[in-house]
Amino acid sequence: MSAYEHFDSALIHGGAGIDDPTHSVNVPIYQTSTFGQHLPGDFYGYEYSRTGNPTRAALESLVAELEGGERGFAFASGMAALTAVLSLFKTGDKVITSSNVYGGTFRVLDKVFSNFGIDYVMVDTSDVAAVEEAIDERTVALLVETPANPLLTITDLRAIAQVAKKHGLLAIADNTFMTPYLQRPLDFGFDIVVHSATKYLGGHSDVVAGLAVVANAELGERIAFLQNSTGGVLGPFDSFLLQRGIKTLGVRMDRHVRNAQAVAAFLQGHPGVRAVYYPGLEGHPGHDVNAAQAKNGGVMMSFELAQGADINAFFLGLDLVVLAESLGGVESLVCHPATMTHAAIPAEIRKKVGISDELIRLSVGIEDERDIIADLGRAIAAATGKEA
Ligand code: PLP
Repeated sequence: MSAYEHFDSALIHGGAGIDDPTHSVNVPIYQTSTFGQHLPGDFYGYEYSRTGNPTRAALESLVAELEGGERGFAFASGMAALTAVLSLFKTGDKVITSSNVYGGTFRVLDKVFSNFGIDYVMVDTSDVAAVEEAIDERTVALLVETPANPLLTITDLRAIAQVAKKHGLLAIADNTFMTPYLQRPLDFGFDIVVHSATKYLGGHSDVVAGLAVVANAELGERIAFLQNSTGGVLGPFDSFLLQRGIKTLGVRMDRHVRNAQAVAAFLQGHPGVRAVYYPGLEGHPGHDVNAAQAKNGGVMMSFELAQGADINAFFLGLDLVVLAESLGGVESLVCHPATMTHAAIPAEIRKKVGISDELIRLSVGIEDERDIIADLGRAIAAATGKEA
């Protein structure tokens, strides 16, 4: 019998752990590049830390369990995880991806994998018919983000998994924004989940890390080969930090989401705000699909200041909320997608997918919601002259 049945217990006790003679409560940091062998090729479980390291292995088995997958892999960043996964493909293959996919994912497809003859096409994946229409004989995979950066566009995970099955394609989801606490794409038939674990999984803005979890052993062998061959692995110390962060994922996310709901309601009622994009709001176009596949609307949102707002006055007006790249930390973080996360996307594509210059993305932290709201209120007033 398993010692626990519920996800919150898995966050703390999940994974294979480590057979440590001292019964250390935490997974020790095996800060070593190599391991002694008994005879050539006859080693004690590990031979070289790029191929495998006990601290990393404990993390990898934990995330596989949390995502409901067969095998997990930890990388030096979310982009390293995506790069390993995209390395499954070969010249002539084509990947269909969400039109407002993370800017770095667009960049690696557009400027790196295209050099090897791997093509991509961007489609609004919230429109499943459009996805199916874009499939041709070269298509090998569907790569989706839901909610997608920065308009929180929702893609129907069940429908995309069905389309992928029907056409024999790999279904890959970037689950960074939701985490397995709120949404588990493999449960809907996806083959691979990737994460920028730098975000909510790590949770403290103190580690850059990436994860991939696969649904079956065959994909596990292929990603293990690519992880070892291309070498973008997560180091032992960062593997430890990530496990420490994951232990509090549930309590952090509950508080993050509660604060996000309060902030979204505040922004929605503010005369200085033109639009709020948050899947937890009933008026959001993806609200119902999101509610059917995720526990709630999550933490991420974006909003547009009123026409003519002074965007710099908004950022200068913030005292608590931090203007920075990234998201998912305990502190509230804002960014300006047009010049930061999505700067790699050409202006005409940005315009087409609705990333205006007045758009602000917000990752709501776990501070007291009253302080977050007061800070945003002051900054919006400074930018628009309008008070809540
Ligand atoms: N995927 C998403 C949705 C992201 O937001 C990011 C980073 O912001 C990445 C992937 C890339 O992750 P990393 O910065 O850890 O390489």
